[in-house]
Amino acid sequence: MAHSRLQNTIAEIADLEEQLHQLRSQRDGQLDADRRLRDYHPKVGTAAYVCPNCWILSGEHVPLAFIRFGSEDVMRCPKCCRDFGSATAKRARSGSSSTALRAPREFGGG
Ligand SMILES: [Zn+2]
Repeated sequence: MAHSRLQNTIAEIADLEEQLHQLRSQRDGQLDADRRLRDYHPKVGTAAYVCPNCWILSGEHVPLAFIRFGSEDVMRCPKCCRDFGSATAKRARSGSSSTALRAPREFGGG
């Protein structure tokens, strides 16, 4: 019957539209993350560094806090509690005199 074929077609279209909708939202989510990744600026203005984790996940600007960790400075996100490397933290401190690279210690010494 022509009627049931039409019904089938309508059902198929609805099914495909549902899939399309799901694929689109999936794609939008990915694009969103990609865009944020590209748009990530470690610094906002002249203020603190921004947590890349929180930025990618939720698009939030969460400034990282500097924490003294032994002889090193690390940056920690107050929201997701991630630590970020000290190398960046050292460079972030402007005005401090640069220390020359030390030669690595030889094995077995000391
Ligand atoms: Zn964070």
